Amino acid sequence: MTTVIQTKGLSKSYGNVDALKPVDLTVSRHAIFGFLGPNGAGKTTLMKLLLGLIQPTSGSAAIFGKDIVKDSVEIRSRVGYLPQEPRFYEFMTARQTLDFTARFFFSGPQHAIDKRVNEMLGLVGLSDKADRPIKGFSGGERQRLGIAQAQVNYPELLILDEPAAALDPLGRRDVLNIMERLREHATIFYSTHILDDVQQVSDTVAILNQGELAAHGNINTLLNGGQHTVYTMDVQGDVARAKEIATSQPWVVRVEAAPQGTATNMLVTVSDETAANTQLLRLLMADEQLVVSNYGRKTVELEDIFVNIVEGGENDSK
Ligand code: ADP
Repeated sequence: MTTVIQTKGLSKSYGNVDALKPVDLTVSRHAIFGFLGPNGAGKTTLMKLLLGLIQPTSGSAAIFGKDIVKDSVEIRSRVGYLPQEPRFYEFMTARQTLDFTARFFFSGPQHAIDKRVNEMLGLVGLSDKADRPIKGFSGGERQRLGIAQAQVNYPELLILDEPAAALDPLGRRDVLNIMERLREHATIFYSTHILDDVQQVSDTVAILNQGELAAHGNINTLLNGGQHTVYTMDVQGDVARAKEIATSQPWVVRVEAAPQGTATNMLVTVSDETAANTQLLRLLMADEQLVVSNYGRKTVELEDIFVNIVEGGENDSK
């Protein structure tokens, strides 16, 4: 596992606004790293620091082992960046735009540049619109063109600021698909405030709140991380008895019950998943007064974690 981005106590303040409090972050090669946070959390600030567009107030960071302040020019030649709202020359076509960008990077023969441009147009699904002026492009097409532009120099790292935020569901799906395809070639570090997107394409996630890193790690570890497993079921019959059976097991941590139509929904939190898997349902079903339906593991959504963190953060500051 090779590290692509490593920050150490990296921070940025504007006067007395701490846009980013000291952050330690590691991004591995070929990750799709989702950088999640509500508006104003400091996502853009971190990306601009990494790109050398602004200077840190304290701390340091390395990309490909190079210092983001001292080696910023070299780093930028190996990084592709899609800003939050990419701007284009509206009268130019998609092909002309990519051709123009490609010329910054190579001085090779025209046919080599044409080949690269065609490849990028294909990659983002714009081949059939390549020769139309950008002024007629939809939001999704603009975002895809922006990604093609960021990718034209075959960067090892792609930094995408809210690539899918302003798009309709179809546009978002296209952009997420392209990101999946690109991970083969590059590490992708992107910011978003859309939890669904992160859950769909990311393997690693960091949650930023009020300039502070609140969580960081593998998405599955984070979803299960350190928390007990919860089983959910609807119980009919002697509910008090069901609660008693569950509570008396040494591996049951907590039992909650709430009316659910004609039944009672029971949430059983356990500390030993193996014991619960082999015994819980059987113990309940053994009692003939009880009918158990809709039995299953309650899945933790990233949204639960996110809301906990963001609301917890708000309470802290009060
Ligand atoms: P995000 O991208 O997560 O929405 P930003 O990184 O843009 O958040 O902003 C983080 C915080 O820093 C916000 O409170 C914002 O107002 C503040 N901020 C960003 N840029 C500047 C600036 N140039 N001057 C002063 N404050 C800034």
